[in-house]
Amino acid sequence: MNTIPTPLFDFHAHTTASDGTLTPTELVTLAKQLGLIAMAITDHDTIAGLPDGSAKAKEFGIYFLHGVELNTDASGVEVDILGYFVDIEDPTFINMVEYRQGERIRRATEMVSKLIELGFNITYERVREIAGGVIARPHIAQALIENGYASSQKDAYARLIGFGAPAYAKRDPLKPEVAIKHIKSAGGVPIIAHPGLIGDDSIVHDLLNQGAEGLEAYYAYHTKEQQDKYLAIANDYNVIVSCGSDYHGPNRNKNKMLGSVVTPIQVMETLVDKVQEAWHTYKIKAVK
Ligand SMILES: [Zn+2]
Repeated sequence: MNTIPTPLFDFHAHTTASDGTLTPTELVTLAKQLGLIAMAITDHDTIAGLPDGSAKAKEFGIYFLHGVELNTDASGVEVDILGYFVDIEDPTFINMVEYRQGERIRRATEMVSKLIELGFNITYERVREIAGGVIARPHIAQALIENGYASSQKDAYARLIGFGAPAYAKRDPLKPEVAIKHIKSAGGVPIIAHPGLIGDDSIVHDLLNQGAEGLEAYYAYHTKEQQDKYLAIANDYNVIVSCGSDYHGPNRNKNKMLGSVVTPIQVMETLVDKVQEAWHTYKIKAVK
C-alpha cells in the first residue's frame, strides 16, 4: 500500500542575519534538500534575511513565511515572541527593529568594556567578527572561550556575563505585550515562542490574554509533556499552534535539524490560513 509521506515544514530558524551559521540562501537550499514544503526565517530582532530567503524559496517552490523573533523581557524573565508575515516595508516596524539592534550593539560594547576593565584580553572587533550579523551574548561567550577564560557558554554566563555576573549589562527592555502590538500593527501574527522555556506559565496566560495569537507547542526542545500541555492551553484559548526546530545552522549549541519537529499537517494549514488572513486584513487597512 502506498502512503503519502508526511510533508516537512518548519517555522522557526535562524540565519547569519542574526546568530545562525547559514546565510538565508544556504538555509533555504538546505530546506530544499531536506524536502521541506513550507518554512519561515525568524531571526532575532531583524528582518534583514527575509528578502534573500524569500527569493530563494520562491525559486524552489517552498512556501515561505516572513518571520521575526523579538527578544523581550517580562520583568526579568526572557520571553521570545515570534511574528509571522510582518510587513517588511512598514517604517514603524523597521525603526523598531533597528532600535533593538542598536541596543544590542550598545549592550555588547558595554559588556566587552566591563570585561576589559576586569582584566580580560578580548576585543569588540573579535566579538563582531564571531557574530557576523546581529551581536548576541553567545558571541561574547565564544570570544571568552577562545581566549581560555571560560570552558563553555554556560560557564561564561555563570561567572562573567550572565544576569547578575560582573560584566553583565542590560539593554533597554522591550515588554512582550509591546512586541505583540508591534507585530500586529505591521500586519503580523504574534506567537509565543517555546513557552516551555519561559519557566512560568502565568506569563503565558497573561500574554494570551494580552493579544498573543498562538503558542509554539511543537518545539524541538520541548518534552512530550510540555508539548501536550501547551497544545491543551492553545485549545483552551482557541489560539493557533506553531512548530519549529529553532535551527541555528551547523556548529551551534542548538543542533536539532531543520524540519525535525514531527507536526501534524493541520498545524501548518491553520497557521498559514491565519497568517494569510491577518495579512489580507492589514493590506485592506493599509490602502484605506
Ligand atoms: Zn529562535
